[in-house]
Amino acid sequence: MLIVPQRVQSRAVTSSSPPRAGVLALQGAYQAHARVLSALGCEVVEVQRPAQLEGLRLLCMPGGESTTMSLLLSSSGLREPLRQAIAAGLPVLATCAGAILLAQRLEGDSGSLKVEPLGLLDLTVDRNAYGRQNESFEAGLEIDWTGLPGSSAGGTQLFHAVFIRAPRFQLPGAQVRVLASFQPAGAAAAEPVLVRQGNIIAAAFHPELSGDDRIHRAALGLRPADF
Ligand code: GLN
Repeated sequence: MLIVPQRVQSRAVTSSSPPRAGVLALQGAYQAHARVLSALGCEVVEVQRPAQLEGLRLLCMPGGESTTMSLLLSSSGLREPLRQAIAAGLPVLATCAGAILLAQRLEGDSGSLKVEPLGLLDLTVDRNAYGRQNESFEAGLEIDWTGLPGSSAGGTQLFHAVFIRAPRFQLPGAQVRVLASFQPAGAAAAEPVLVRQGNIIAAAFHPELSGDDRIHRAALGLRPADF
């Protein structure tokens, strides 16, 4: 049986078709997002060309390697159509490298290959600032579900978050609501790890890897009326 969140279900009844959700499928961990979205009853589109952005309820921008994704965004012709679609209100759930691609300001982008971010999320993102692959870690996060659609569905249970070569989110702008924070070892204070700015939800971690679909469900609840 397919598990369909309440708000999606009501839309699906009126349109008699499942919601169409995209995963940016240029590189990285997009199949894990696709599995979560399929289990939630979505028709999943692997987005590699501009035309595939049409009619999406949600786009997941996965983790992976943001330098490679940045290059492929340009060579695929997706960069500008994607930027315009998100700026016009396409709901997005961006995780890790996906969040790096959305940032307005990047730090730690010091290798020979540079990321050219889309500049849509008012945040400074410090790439790889939690360390290398073997310094990846997991943590239980308290999420402020009131900042997301369907807040009552979130409950009080901690979200088991998987951080892999994670970026650090800093200096969120006035439009950015911090939904979860984490205090890294040695840091003076807790820092944002899950944020929302209108139609964009961005996570420094990988919600698609923890067998907990609450963040994807909330993202599917984003509507034009929400931003
Ligand atoms: N550190 C990677 C980058 O800079 C992101 C890691 C991830 O997506 N898990 O692109």
